[in-house]
Amino acid sequence: GIKNNKILDAMCNTPRHIFMDEALSSRAYEDVALPIGYNQTISQPYIVARMTELLLEFGRLEKVLEIGTGCGYQTAILAQLVDHVYSIERIWPLQRKAKSHLWDLKLKNVSFLHGDGILGWPKHAPYDGILVSAAPSEVPDTLLQQMALGGVMIVPVGKAGNQRLQRVIRIQGGFEVEELEPVSFVPFLPGTEM
Ligand code: SAH
Repeated sequence: GIKNNKILDAMCNTPRHIFMDEALSSRAYEDVALPIGYNQTISQPYIVARMTELLLEFGRLEKVLEIGTGCGYQTAILAQLVDHVYSIERIWPLQRKAKSHLWDLKLKNVSFLHGDGILGWPKHAPYDGILVSAAPSEVPDTLLQQMALGGVMIVPVGKAGNQRLQRVIRIQGGFEVEELEPVSFVPFLPGTEM
């Protein structure tokens, strides 16, 4: 169902097995989410492609903020399609691994922050795009405030078993919200872990 050829090319060019433990690498090319340790998962490839397609539907983006780097797979796809990715992860060892995977793939247009994504990354705001890979119960206001006019945010919203993908667009004087398909993401958690 993915129609954007640039996204399909980026997915074809990105080895997924390098982002996971060797014990699971034989399953890396199945279209499923898989564990990456620390109670987290690498997203299902279809969902990575779908969120990227929704994010880029209105054209190329310059600055994209990603919340929930995880192992860095979604980050690697984004880095091939936008000018610069700013990526925040709350679990330090995951962020460290993600950095080394992106380095191995020679994707250098990514900046990493170990922090709580609820705060966004004000230093580089406003962003043309924000992609959130963990599900908050509602869209954090701080992130809405860091969107540029015309900016797009893709975010799964709601509790386990009752989540939907939303696309939020910042318009003059407010926000437009589209409710999309049901999804299943790990929860958006507060604070950081070392
Ligand atoms: N994008 C990843 C998916 C990782 S799973 C991929 O391509 O596979 C979601 C990630 O969001 C986890 O690593 C989790 O630690 C992180 N996360 C959850 N709440 C967060 C928060 N408040 N700030 C930053 N990262 C968060």
